[in-house]
Amino acid sequence: MERGEYPGAKNMFGGMMAYCPAPEELVPGFWDQAPWERAVIKRVLSVAGEGSSTSLVFQAHSDSTLRPAGAGSTSDRTLTAFTLFRPFFDRWYAEQAVARGVTLLTSCRADGLVIRDGMVRGIRISGDSVEAPLVIACDGTLSFLAQEAGLHTGFRPDQVALGVRALYHLTEEEINERFGLLGREGATQEFLGCTEGIRGGGFIYTQTETLSVGLVLHLDSIKSRSIPPYELLERFVASSQVASLLRGARLMEYSAHLLPEAGMRVVPKLCAAGLLVAGDAAGFCYTNGLTQEGMNLAMTSGLIAAQAGAAALAEGDFSARKLARYREKLKKSFVLRDLATFSRAIDFLHHDRLFAVYPRVVSALMEDLYRSDGTPKEKIGKLGRRAIKDEVTMRQLLADLFQGGRAFLW
Ligand SMILES: Cc1cc2nc3c(=O)[nH]c(=O)nc-3n(C[C@H](O)[C@H](O)[C@H](O)COP(=O)(O)OP(=O)(O)OC[C@H]3O[C@@H](n4cnc5c(N)ncnc54)[C@H](O)[C@@H]3O)c2cc1C
Repeated sequence: MERGEYPGAKNMFGGMMAYCPAPEELVPGFWDQAPWERAVIKRVLSVAGEGSSTSLVFQAHSDSTLRPAGAGSTSDRTLTAFTLFRPFFDRWYAEQAVARGVTLLTSCRADGLVIRDGMVRGIRISGDSVEAPLVIACDGTLSFLAQEAGLHTGFRPDQVALGVRALYHLTEEEINERFGLLGREGATQEFLGCTEGIRGGGFIYTQTETLSVGLVLHLDSIKSRSIPPYELLERFVASSQVASLLRGARLMEYSAHLLPEAGMRVVPKLCAAGLLVAGDAAGFCYTNGLTQEGMNLAMTSGLIAAQAGAAALAEGDFSARKLARYREKLKKSFVLRDLATFSRAIDFLHHDRLFAVYPRVVSALMEDLYRSDGTPKEKIGKLGRRAIKDEVTMRQLLADLFQGGRAFLW
């Protein structure tokens, strides 16, 4: 059931989805057929300072000239992510389900749950009720259905982020030339230090003939500053590192959406008698600083919820105790395991210094390393001490390094 005119009509995301094997279990050859835009083989992480930026580039070796229309232009699909548009992708995926016997109701909003004798029995739509042995709530970040069932009380501002995205048109050739791509190869670029001290980051994703340019900003951090998100996005778009890529591009669309951003801490109880919660509604979305992952978690948790539902149907038992196997299966899958692996990283990414101070420090250090002004050069240790002077104390730096190490290294 979807409140939009068709699946995907109301969905918004940055633009890139990590390769996900889950749908291949349902639709053989899924990624060969799905309407994606580009197969991402090049990922750039840029730390932006005031006068310079420093980037790390990952590029999977490409055989795209051999298989330009194949599913993923590298020979290793697990290194590939896909850029896509939700209105095309979600609609096509739903059509596959309909072709296999699913009934799809669109322009149909669930107003609430039907709860009887302590068990969810269905949903309410415009005063009517539709009864079902099991409801799977995947109604997005705010999930009023999960809240109504008492599974969670809603997210706090420090647990969600606001994503703002602008879509720009360029020709396929212009995008290939500017990002050094061939055929259907894609590139993404993530930015740290481009949000004027607000916790968050920027991104550029390449689609076939468009670029998604946006920011993901922690809601509590924006609230504490007086810069409206769209203004921050305009400044990001006008910055020299982005403006050069957008030369002559035409703005097509602007959108904004909330996403969960607090990892395991916001994962609610995942089931009640007659109800399971999946996707963003269950808080399955995070960034580890390198990528934003949400769609692959939503699709995989949806599949696991359906499998748990089918097992409950076979046994005729939709009690909370029986449905608890959903959480057990999720715990064994990458969905809950990745959230657990990166739980410290997610906390670490709530430190203001990471977005305001360290990008400046990295830029100052790199500028000193590359500066040639006719004076004798110094070793990197001395330049490093100069770069952090007046920015962060040695004690704070060591504490941050320790926490960063615990978050990402061990
Ligand atoms: C700016 C931004 C950038 C992002 N970038 C990425 C990225 O690059 N990669 C990535 O993997 N993830 C990204 N995400 C996260 C990703 O979008 C989500 O994790 C994913 O969309 C979750 O899917 P979902 O189906 O659970 O929820 P949603 O996509 O929110 O879908 C919920 C659906 O439920 C419908 N609905 C809601 N309430 C009702 C109701 N009462 N009745 C009927 N229908 C209802 C909505 O219309 C919608 O179709 C990003 C998110 C944002 C906001």
